[in-house]
Amino acid sequence: MVSKETLWKKVAEEISRCRKCRLHKHRKNPVPGEGSLNTKIMFIGEAPGAKEDEEGRPFVGAAGKLLTILLESIGLRRENVFITNVVKCRPPHNRDPLDDEINSCLPYLIEQINIVKPKIIVTLGRISTKTVFQLGNLPFKSMSKDRGVIREAKIGEVEVKILPTYHPAAALYNPKLRSKIESDFKALAKIYKNMEESGRKKYTLLDFLRES
Ligand code: URA
Repeated sequence: MVSKETLWKKVAEEISRCRKCRLHKHRKNPVPGEGSLNTKIMFIGEAPGAKEDEEGRPFVGAAGKLLTILLESIGLRRENVFITNVVKCRPPHNRDPLDDEINSCLPYLIEQINIVKPKIIVTLGRISTKTVFQLGNLPFKSMSKDRGVIREAKIGEVEVKILPTYHPAAALYNPKLRSKIESDFKALAKIYKNMEESGRKKYTLLDFLRES
């Protein structure tokens, strides 16, 4: 069987050579994503900003600092999760990615989900939530209605829970949004803990004896 690392390397190389939409003309570096390929949790943002474009890494600017703080607040580190974006190249002047740019980039996101096989996807902001809901055949209403509500969906072959929350950039200067993101991260911690515990409970002595 081909390893996750090999599959991921292939996708990252494809992204680095990608010229499927106009965004490649403006980029300094593509930003494929990074983190653990064996994680249960995947974070999906919108698109790289200036700092991400400089470094070729996701969420390393001001919004990324807040994301790192939020992760640490629930006992996780960036290396424990996988972090990526809907589009892998920076839109000029940080404008929203256009529909055709999102559609060109979508096969990469689907491949990433198929490789990592997360149990929980946290969508950061409207564009990410709308896009991932579309992939999972879920109706998107609005961030204020959908955020914090856990949905179940199948994306490709992957059965996944989706937890939408606000984009950390939106919460940087808005204390109300920040407290909502914080409460969504607490919900994430709870789901993750339950998953870990039920995973452990299923592993009985009988299973051990059967395996040995
Ligand atoms: N905003 C995003 O949506 N993604 C990044 O990687 C950085 C900022």
